[in-house]
Amino acid sequence: MQQKDLVIIGAGTAGLTAAIYACRSGLDTIVLEESMYGGQIVSTGEIENYPGMPGVDGFGFASSLHQQAEGLGAKIQFAPVTAISKADSWFYVETPDTTWLAKTVIAANGAVHRKLGCEGEEAFQGKGVSYCATCDGAFFKNKSVAVVGGGNTAVEDALYLSGICQKVHMIHRRDSFRAHRISVEKLLAAPNVQIHYQSQVLRINGKDRVEGLEVSSPAGTEALQVQGVFVAVGLAPKNQLFSSLCQLDESGYFAAGEDCRTTCEGLFAAGDTRTKPLRQLVTAAADGAVAASMAAAYIQTH
Ligand code: NAP
Repeated sequence: MQQKDLVIIGAGTAGLTAAIYACRSGLDTIVLEESMYGGQIVSTGEIENYPGMPGVDGFGFASSLHQQAEGLGAKIQFAPVTAISKADSWFYVETPDTTWLAKTVIAANGAVHRKLGCEGEEAFQGKGVSYCATCDGAFFKNKSVAVVGGGNTAVEDALYLSGICQKVHMIHRRDSFRAHRISVEKLLAAPNVQIHYQSQVLRINGKDRVEGLEVSSPAGTEALQVQGVFVAVGLAPKNQLFSSLCQLDESGYFAAGEDCRTTCEGLFAAGDTRTKPLRQLVTAAADGAVAASMAAAYIQTH
């Protein structure tokens, strides 16, 4: 068993930023990461909306953040967390080889984009298939794109893209949207948005990049020429491990506000894993800073 002031779960933007702040606060910290550092941003080509760093690529950003955290003394252990519990004010964070005994924990374990699961989706990820319109939309200026989904994210993505792209095909499997009515009304009024109701993507086609997709509807199968496909069929949190420790919201995200406090004392949630209105790089970084500062303050007062 190894004892730490702080265990950070996840080495994405929120987790590594938390590590930077924790190290600078003098907390003895370990970051646990199940796969690769960087999180979702690694799969983004060029980042245009991170303040002060125009044009940085996702992998470059993640590498630089990782180097910065390690340079300040952060240690990363590549291991999945298999269980977490709390007893006598200590957290027990279990990985296959070690149990980490921690005064505080920051869950920065992210959320995953749900996949469509159709042919071509995986092969063209980053080559026309995107899960983030605000991150990648500008690459499709004056081009034709498709947005798949019927929730708030899909409708807002389609509206955002309609201001950049020549044509937006909105593909939804039902005959009505579950998004907010005001957004749907704006979408229906957008002149360059064509809505395909009761439609499913059969496959995404192309050679090196996306060139089109096939869509099935009650009217038959249709081929659409698009250069981009934005998949917005929901996010899935991965918070089951924490469900007996603290409150999760109805979608499975940590019920935590801007101070990143969860309903379990000493456990903080940072980045995409918590309830929040905007899941972006800049808000993940901000959460990491807040959560580490809150963890340092918690240790001082307990
Ligand atoms: P969501 O509300 O879960 O909607 C996902 C959409 O994708 C649904 O329309 C669903 O269809 C469709 N879908 C799911 N799996 C599919 C599949 N395999 N193939 C085709 N379509 C599929 O997800 P979200 O839009 O990402 O929103 C997540 C949460 O954030 C929601 O609570 C949302 O309200 C909130 N949000 C709020 C705002 C805002 O308030 N401005 C903005 C963005 C997100 P069905 O309708 O048939 O289930």
